[in-house]
Amino acid sequence: KFMKIAIDGPAGAGKSTVAKAVAEKTGFYYLDSGKIYRACTWVLVNNQLHMSDLDKLLHQLHSGNLEIVQQGQEGVTVYFENHKLDDELRTPQINDLVSTIASQPKIREYVTSVLRHFSCHHNVVMDGRDIGTVVFPDADVKIYLTADQRIRAQRRVEELKTSGILSTVDEVEKSIVKRDFQDQTRTHSPLQIADDAVVINSTYLSVQEVVEKVIRLISH
Ligand code: C5P
Repeated sequence: KFMKIAIDGPAGAGKSTVAKAVAEKTGFYYLDSGKIYRACTWVLVNNQLHMSDLDKLLHQLHSGNLEIVQQGQEGVTVYFENHKLDDELRTPQINDLVSTIASQPKIREYVTSVLRHFSCHHNVVMDGRDIGTVVFPDADVKIYLTADQRIRAQRRVEELKTSGILSTVDEVEKSIVKRDFQDQTRTHSPLQIADDAVVINSTYLSVQEVVEKVIRLISH
């Protein structure tokens, strides 16, 4: 049986940074589930579809070829119909639309099956919003990672800078608060803390301290 580590939490909590480091230390594969929701949103935008064209989007997703290619412990690269999807998944337009797309039950069903399929043959660390509650309710370790919203916005600004995207903390804070609200209040698999999750608040912790906590939970 393969191990599954679930890391859920609000936007900008540092889930991907921690998950990547944990993957490096354990040799597990790392999959950022938000990337798959972003890729679905990219397909919508790239085909000039609107929210009212959900059936068309689902058709595109089911008939098209979504490929997830593992790149060492660094995580995965996603391709749709041979388009490599990278920075185009992190634009303000995708940020604004992704929660709405992710609130659609049929989209969640599609993404959940993609995530489970990917994890069939590997030990994985997966981050997202519903990994410990819906995707892998039987995950070996469940973490709910959070931090104060101002800190999360500041960290996101730094992270975006490394991809060459400049933004202000206020702007990013507004956008993550809006996204968290949408993610927490949607009807289908909202962001919530699994009963058996360990909550880690990283406001005053370094990445290394969080990673050490997670590794300790895995080796118990
Ligand atoms: O993690 P990231 O910020 O890239 O996620 C983008 C969006 O995808 C989230 O705001 C949320 O709406 C959606 N998402 C989700 N369930 C997951 C992962 C992401 O609904 N497991």
